[in-house]
Order: sequence, then structure tokens, then C-alpha cells
Amino acid sequence: MIVTRFAPSPTGTLHVGNIRTALHNWMFARAHGGRFVLRIDDTDAQRSEERFVDAIRADLAWLGLVPDAEERQSARFERYEAVFDELRVAGHIYPAYETAQELDLKRKIARGRGLPPVYDRAALALSDADRAALEADGTRPHWRFRLDHDAPIAWDDLIRGAQAFDPRTMSDPVIRRADGSWLYMLPSAIDDRDMGVTHVVRGEDHVTNTALQLQMFAAMGVAPPAFAHEALLTGAEGKLSKRLGSLGVEALRDEGIEPAAIVSLLARLGTSQPVEPLADPAPLVAAFDFAHFGRAPARFDERELAQVNARIVHQLAYDAVADRLPPGMDAAAWEAVRPNLATVAEAADWWAVVEGPVDAPAPDPDDAAYLREAAAIARTIDWGADPWHALTAALKDATGRKGKPLFLPLRRALTGRDHGPDMAALLPLIGRERAVARLDSNSGA
Ligand code: GLU
Repeated sequence: MIVTRFAPSPTGTLHVGNIRTALHNWMFARAHGGRFVLRIDDTDAQRSEERFVDAIRADLAWLGLVPDAEERQSARFERYEAVFDELRVAGHIYPAYETAQELDLKRKIARGRGLPPVYDRAALALSDADRAALEADGTRPHWRFRLDHDAPIAWDDLIRGAQAFDPRTMSDPVIRRADGSWLYMLPSAIDDRDMGVTHVVRGEDHVTNTALQLQMFAAMGVAPPAFAHEALLTGAEGKLSKRLGSLGVEALRDEGIEPAAIVSLLARLGTSQPVEPLADPAPLVAAFDFAHFGRAPARFDERELAQVNARIVHQLAYDAVADRLPPGMDAAAWEAVRPNLATVAEAADWWAVVEGPVDAPAPDPDDAAYLREAAAIARTIDWGADPWHALTAALKDATGRKGKPLFLPLRRALTGRDHGPDMAALLPLIGRERAVARLDSNSGA
């Protein structure tokens, strides 16, 4: 059984980048009949906030990425403690006493000598007496995971292909602070093991963490999950933009972006497959495959999102939007205006045009008589069937006009605009009474 997890820290709301990570974890699990776990990484009590946990849940629900289970790191401290003790007793974890300034100095000296700034393991050379003396002085240790220098690190990344790291070139990672609080690295590996995670899907900013965590899995005596590291998202201008880092679900929703538009775009961005605007993501899920992902940064363009959004809106059924439409706007009205919308909210603008009053520009003097004639015909035609066809056919016969001179003055007088939904769909909604009044008031009558 495939198990994926999305592991946000509740220190803020989700943005486009981590929504994409959540989406791919969800898609991969769904594509294989697996489980998708939401893991709240809230070991940092200072920076984690409950309102962000609520917002993350709500955003995922809005996007349709509903987890099969939810886990919280803050509920698992006893478990971390137990594994920590086992690893410490087995020699995989050791205490270190350097201050941040001392470590900084060591790094500077290494760089000055042209060496990589790798931790020198000085703490491993301390005797019991040295440690006792430090602790008697009130110095509390932080804790490092001891990398196995004789075990080369390698894995076959589902996106990046063969990866290799030499542990000798890496610092033993600090996994726990002097105050006992946890850094992300070890609890995450423990959780992935305990929760049966089979595939870790995350951004390529975690590649080095993966190298370190592979040794943690080995120290725990378990096989690691598979890994897929995705190229990061960049803004349209090719840089990691500030806007992208803060662009969240709330802002997108306020702009009228549909969840299906976000899903459709982010499902395919950075892959070799074309973006397909689909109101139902099932075909996207069925076609999901890490083999389609490229290694180049994926460009996120808000204009592309707006285009995808319009194409989604054009597919939405009345029932899916009814509660967001103005009172009185029925299925026929929705279907009449839908092809002209970039967002669902714009439907209200067209409904206001239907209901009136409309602010039509003063007609061309040449059109006054024409519109008077149109008003007269509109009073007599049958409104039951296709009044637009009946009106324009009769006007064509009566005036000899065709094309733009036939249609445009009518559209302007009836809607106040030069462009918009198909008049054949709109005119029955406007109805005889309002149509006649608009044609009359524009004819100078
Ligand atoms: N909480 C971590 C983060 O947001 C999780 C990374 C991971 O997926 O392991 O970066």
C-alpha cells in the first residue's frame, strides 16, 4: 500500500509552492489507491499556531486534497524520546557543547584554509571528565547524529535519478537543541518509519536532508522510503519571487480562482505533459507519473492561472456555482453568460445587465430610427421561442441591414456594451418589457 504524507509546519498559511507539494503527494496516493497523510510538523511550540493548523486543513479541503489521516508531531514527543535514547545508547547520537559563536569561528577558520566548513567532531574527543566539568559549569549539550563515514549515501530519486553523497563531506547534523527541543530531521524520519510512509515527495531544497535521513533510517535498522524531489517553482520572471512565497489560497480565492484551476495548473507545471484545464481532476490523477517531471525549475505564471481558470469556469455546472450567484439567477442565465466569464463572480455583472437599468451610450443619430423600428418589432414578435432570431430577421427584412450595423446598435441599446454573451441566450432573460423600454429610450423616443 502506497503511503504519502504532506508535512507542513503550521507557522504560516500554505502558498503555491507547498500547495504543489501537497497536490503531488495526494495525486500519487490516489493514483495507486494509497493513503495520503497530513502531518502537522509542530515541534516548534514557539512558532507553531493553531490558527495556521486550521487554515491548512481548510485550504486542503477547499482544494479537494482531503487527507486520509492526520498526525501531529507535538503528540509524539515520548516516541521521539524513546528512539533518541536507543540511538544514543547505540552510539549514533552524541552530545556537543560548542556555542553558536564557537561553531561560527570554526567554519570561518575552515573556509580561510580553503576547507569545507564541516563540523570537526571535537565533541567526540571529550572525556567523561571533560563533559562532567562542562555540565558542572551549567553548559547544556545539544545533540548531533553521528554519520557513518564508511557508509556511502546513495539513492535512486524518482525525479532526479541516481544521487550520491559522501558522508565525510557532511557535518553530523544537530538533531536536538540544548533546551531539549527537536530539530526537524530525526522526528521526521521516525514518523516516516512509524507511519509506514512509502514515498516522500518534497522540494529539492530537502535533497541534503534526505542524504542525512537515509543514515538515520539505517541507524534505526529500517529500509528507507522512496524519495522524489521536485524542482522548485519560480515566478514568471524566472526568479523565486516574493509574491510566490506569499501567494496563498485566500488571495487566489479572492481573485476568483477556482480550486480546479490551481489543481489543473500545478498538476502539470514542470512536467512534460500539457496543462489540461479540468473541473474534475480524475484524469489528471490517473495520468500522474514522476517520470514526467523535469529537473528544471517550474515557472508559475499568474496569467496562465487566470487563463486556466476561465476555461474551468466555462465547464462549471449551475449546481456547482448556484450558491455564489445573485438571487434569481437561474440555470438558463448561468449557461447564457458562462462562456464570457473569467471568474464566477463576473456572472453578477451580467445579471445586473439582464435586470437593468443599463447605462447605454448615446446611439449614433443614424441608428435612432433603426432602434425605434426595433422597439416596434420587439412589441409584436413571439417571445416564446427565439426572440433574438425573430427580431433580427424582421429588422433585416425591414431595413436591409446586415452584419455589424444590424447587430451592434441592438447589443449596445440592450446591454450597454459592445461585447458579451450570445444575444440569443441573453435576450430571453432580459424579456420583452425591458427590451422594448431599452430600445425605446435609445431611439430618442
Ligand atoms: N516540515 C517540513 C517542511 O515544511 C517537512 C519537510 C518534509 O517533507 O519532510 O519543510
